[in-house]
Amino acid sequence: MGTNINSILITQNYFTILHQMQFKNIVGQAAIKQRLVNSVKENRVSHAQLFLGPEGSGSLALAVAYAQYLSCEDKQEDDSCGVCSSCRKYQKLMHPDLHFSYPFFAKHKDDTALTFIEQWRDAFINNPYLSLDTWRGYLDAENKQANINIAECHQIIKKLSFKPFESVYKILILWLPEYLDKEGNALLKIIEEPQPNTLFILVAQNQDQILNTILSRTQLIKVPCLTYEEVKQYLLTEHNQTDDAAAEIAYLSNGNLTEALTMLQQDNKGYHNLFVQWLRLCFSNKGLEVLTFVDQFSKMGRENQKNFLRYGISFIRECCLLMAGAGNLVHLPAKELETAQKMTNVLDISKAQYISDELEKAHYHVERNANPKILFLDVSLQIIKILNLKTIPQGSQYIPN
Ligand SMILES: [Zn+2]
Repeated sequence: MGTNINSILITQNYFTILHQMQFKNIVGQAAIKQRLVNSVKENRVSHAQLFLGPEGSGSLALAVAYAQYLSCEDKQEDDSCGVCSSCRKYQKLMHPDLHFSYPFFAKHKDDTALTFIEQWRDAFINNPYLSLDTWRGYLDAENKQANINIAECHQIIKKLSFKPFESVYKILILWLPEYLDKEGNALLKIIEEPQPNTLFILVAQNQDQILNTILSRTQLIKVPCLTYEEVKQYLLTEHNQTDDAAAEIAYLSNGNLTEALTMLQQDNKGYHNLFVQWLRLCFSNKGLEVLTFVDQFSKMGRENQKNFLRYGISFIRECCLLMAGAGNLVHLPAKELETAQKMTNVLDISKAQYISDELEKAHYHVERNANPKILFLDVSLQIIKILNLKTIPQGSQYIPN
């Protein structure tokens, strides 16, 4: 099976340390791990479960580690053994009783998830925290809509109609049931009255996009997003980041490890200085220099522009916390904290709020391919007004919504 350029880029292997997908390889989530292990020990394994967690929480990784634990032939106190024949097959995602289903882009009407299984194994083994965007990079997506089609639903029913070959359980992990559409109703019977020793693990991000009929038939396991400390610690120990860099990425990623890993690949250093210089120029209303900045922004590329704006939004939020006397909640590295404190001399909470709104709007427009020069020029003008005028002008947005 050919690998495309994207997947080669992605294959710069974040998880070289993770040859295994055991609980111990998953960042944080101690309470969930304990709950899952206990359900096996106490023989309370529900046959249809929904792991619901935001992107970057590790819910898919948890589902795989849980399945590996269930199938392990030498279960340890709180994890699979990692060396038995079942665990070794799990490492490669090649156990005959482990099945996956996920959204894909069908080229033919009878394409199923199985058509893309090699790309899937590649994608997951390289990054168990993959997002739909990452997964898209492994597929020849063009502009098609990802979904789980009716052919795949029939395939699932067929797969699950056999008894397990080697393990006690036959397990199907269905990633992103949000993409099932109404075809998912074909699965209701098998979810409700499965063959003995068949497990359905759904891994979802948005509860309100899942068919209610499916939702009501599964046991819900809520996976929270990671904490700032968990992400920071992971970046320090597994990715040899400096304390400042780890703090900055942990802070920007907001508990989303997928996001943190993406940011690791990009050059984050510099956002802080760039943002603060830009605000200073806007404050002193230096037109020509602002234009030079606008030029620089417009050449940054869309992903960088989005990260830069997101940095700005987070930074302003921290300034607001300082102004509101909630400095104990601020997570900035020392140097940035110092700048933020100075910033509070020229800002008040309402100005900060307006700036933040402008940055949010700009982020929205960057995502929708706005012309970056016009966009950043407009945002700069808005910020100049906000910082320099006593009253905030109403309805002066130049970009049509
Ligand atoms: Zn084992």
